[in-house]
Amino acid sequence: MRIISLSVLLQIANLANAQVDFIGCATEAPSIRWESVLQGLIKKPLAENKHGKTMTSHYVIPVVFHVIHGGEPVGAYPNILQQQIASQVTIINQDFSGNGYNAANYPAAAFVNWANNQKIPLANIDQNGRIKIADFNIEFCLATIDNNGNSLTEPGINRINYLQEGWVNPNKFSTQATMKSYLDSIIKPQSIWDVKKYLNVWITDKSTLLNYAGVSSVPPLSGLPDLPGNATESTDGIWCFTKAVGSYTLFPAGTYVSTFIDGRTLTHEIGHYLGLRHIWGDLACGNDFCDDTPPASAENTGTPVYPLNAGSCASPSNNPDGEMFMNFMDYTRGPSKYMFTTDQKTRAQTVMLNSPFRNQLGTHNLCGTINSTNDVIGPNPIAVFPNPSNNHIQIGAGKQQILRIKILDRTGLIVKETTSSSISVQELPAGVYFVLVEGVNQNFSTKLLVSHH
Ligand SMILES: [Zn+2]
Repeated sequence: MRIISLSVLLQIANLANAQVDFIGCATEAPSIRWESVLQGLIKKPLAENKHGKTMTSHYVIPVVFHVIHGGEPVGAYPNILQQQIASQVTIINQDFSGNGYNAANYPAAAFVNWANNQKIPLANIDQNGRIKIADFNIEFCLATIDNNGNSLTEPGINRINYLQEGWVNPNKFSTQATMKSYLDSIIKPQSIWDVKKYLNVWITDKSTLLNYAGVSSVPPLSGLPDLPGNATESTDGIWCFTKAVGSYTLFPAGTYVSTFIDGRTLTHEIGHYLGLRHIWGDLACGNDFCDDTPPASAENTGTPVYPLNAGSCASPSNNPDGEMFMNFMDYTRGPSKYMFTTDQKTRAQTVMLNSPFRNQLGTHNLCGTINSTNDVIGPNPIAVFPNPSNNHIQIGAGKQQILRIKILDRTGLIVKETTSSSISVQELPAGVYFVLVEGVNQNFSTKLLVSHH
């Protein structure tokens, strides 16, 4: 009989605990019925893609992060700082535009054989013959207007004290089923913002027994009432573990769990929110309904090296290029994944065009500019001079009294706040900003271009 010492047992227990956070996601795979509706909608754009016409509509999706806390001061976990959330929005904007960090690590001949063998359309291939890293043409911005039309003090952030709401600490739920049930029946319905206007992201602490860091709804398609992921007007959106939100590289002062310091949990979950499936199709060599992603025998974890698992799937064969572990819809670690493909983009664009909960996102002027009951009616009285500027600007507001001026970057983050109408913009990086002027009864907003020559 072998006797295992207590310390060895404890070490094993610790290892098991440490590995808990390696697994990514609890999003349910969409049903066959859902997929068949999407296949009906995507047929035409996929055929057009073969003739070089790629879907390129531009979307900017307003995002609200519901930060669930227990009365901790702002900056104390789980009531994380605005900067940690802003760093997350930077990451998703980079990732969905094909410019995510480490994209330069894409191997020089990645999936060239696969592309040739499968006769992948030219639109899906880059100048090196590789499967192309796609630009979704979908952006995300932090909402500056809340669900009631009021200006937000912190763009894209709705802080909620669960004690004041009479809720249980979300970290008390130690199974996927109880966590999901509490989110779907209590937290989400009581806090959700209009799902046709905002991408709702709830971020909470979680039990260490839960082995996932994110869950997303699957986008509803018309005529489908019973959806996986329970995407209703009171539940549609994404849940993320607070410590998996944001980028350590961009904002080291945040609170992170070591395995999720790259902000790519939300990239993956927004993939699901836009209709993408896991790269392995949730089955051994299953179907993700994207021709330009080679089949995979299972999810990949860790930090693999290309080519990975060549020949792991036979029909179609992924030999000799193997599995696309660098795709955001796999489970590899943040630094190892940096791409979506063109067929994944076509799915997301098709969902943005057709899903009743997605097809109006970005059309309500909820980021950067004011669109509230206090909104300006008639000509905008704000004058910014000079504009573009690289040094100082003067703000005028006609007969309006100026109480306060805020300058926001294009994601809605406040980069300057002042009561003076003479403002230095010298230290701001070049780009598009918004000047928000708060008056006595009205707020006004206008665009500012900062350019350095
Ligand atoms: Zn997933």
